[in-house]
Amino acid sequence: MRADLPEVVGAISRKCTKARLVISTNGLVPTLIERTLEDVLRVNPNVGIRLSLDGIGAVHQEMRGVEDAFAKVMASLDVSRALGVKDIGLAYTAANENLDQLLPVYELARQKNVTFTLCGAVHSSEIEGYLGSEATEIEDKRLLGRQLDGLIRERLRKWSPQALARAYYEFGIYRREADGKRILPCGAAEVLFFMDPFGGVYSCNVANKLLGNIREQEFGAIWNSREARESRDFARNCPYQCWMLCTVSPYLRQRPLQPMMWIASSKVRVFLGRGVIRQ
Ligand code: SF4
Repeated sequence: MRADLPEVVGAISRKCTKARLVISTNGLVPTLIERTLEDVLRVNPNVGIRLSLDGIGAVHQEMRGVEDAFAKVMASLDVSRALGVKDIGLAYTAANENLDQLLPVYELARQKNVTFTLCGAVHSSEIEGYLGSEATEIEDKRLLGRQLDGLIRERLRKWSPQALARAYYEFGIYRREADGKRILPCGAAEVLFFMDPFGGVYSCNVANKLLGNIREQEFGAIWNSREARESRDFARNCPYQCWMLCTVSPYLRQRPLQPMMWIASSKVRVFLGRGVIRQ
């Protein structure tokens, strides 16, 4: 966690009064999280936290290469709860090494009464210093399909809009991995942007499409620039076809019709005892 996080949260909270702020962390240093969160919550008591968890027990330790990684994340969860954070979640990213851990991490989140977030299937980015550039594909698509089918059916049994939207998003993860294509167009530089810690504004957090820098230009000028227009065109035919929660959810909120139709028909399938992912 950055030492200046409370100032960053304060600045965003003052400028964007309706923004929902969620801090993502690996949760590996509970003492640091406790110290920083105390200050952050003083500035904005509604901040949420997502703790990365790739698997249960030794799997998480193996994935992260950090001793007692699982216990440390659990301690960070307890610390966050004790400090009064209301929006706590476990964030799982599917990779070849932890594919069978999706449902166990979901079950753990359920037992702990926190949100389960499936960030996506393997992450990479062209943007220097962000997620790393090594892209990998999920090899065992059948196992991914089985895990996702179990998760999506759980979601579809509920009536909360958030659970249903997540079911659609998770279905999109499977289709992206199985077909190499998104199930919805991309809204990069149209309904979302990504800003790095130095003020660089990008169309998204994956493709290296720099639109401008907020320290040098007004946001309106950046948003209406030639670079922004070109990035919108690029996004419509983007070769990466990525499907990640942070870039998909703004589009879902703006264009909910197709997701709603899928949710309605899939809910019927689940209530008839059928699966949602056909392999
Ligand atoms: S699909 Fe959209 S969000 Fe993903 S890399 Fe391409 S432009 Fe960016």
